[in-house]
Amino acid sequence: MAIPGLPTSLTLEIVTPDRALVAEQVDEVEVPGSRGYFGVLPGHAPLLASLQVGEFWYRKGQEKYYLAIAFGFVEVLPDKVTVLAQIAERAEDIDQRRAEQAKARAEERMGSRNPDIDFERARVAMMKSLIRLQVSSRARTHV
Ligand code: ATP
Repeated sequence: MAIPGLPTSLTLEIVTPDRALVAEQVDEVEVPGSRGYFGVLPGHAPLLASLQVGEFWYRKGQEKYYLAIAFGFVEVLPDKVTVLAQIAERAEDIDQRRAEQAKARAEERMGSRNPDIDFERARVAMMKSLIRLQVSSRARTHV
């Protein structure tokens, strides 16, 4: 039941440095915040949070749409969620093979004793590849 004065949907905008990926009216979103995942329904209190490498979804009616996102910020208002992400990919646009290859490279680098290897960089590449594989497996999922 709608409460008078509270918004009943959210305008979701997801923007990366390259493109505006999503601009839609949605019913609910879940955000990979750097301090943990959190859900947003219409009427949520305003907040600003930074993003981690993670899975993002939004729901329209009974249908959920998944994206891999990494780094950036999200602004939540009672009737609007704006995501400014360094990387954002829809589940169906993820190249699974490419993510598998990136994972294998990161694994090799993380296991290497070569002092020239930047371990943190390899760890981030690993996280991105794992999230891409997870999100890619969600393509065409229903609630
Ligand atoms: P790779 O090592 O495979 O290049 P990466 O993690 O270094 O991956 P990023 O720097 O995160 O790649 O992304 C570069 C661009 O390539 C971005 O536009 C990103 O959306 C896209 N991209 C990277 N990996 C994939 C993938 N597996 N499927 C679809 N797009 C991808």
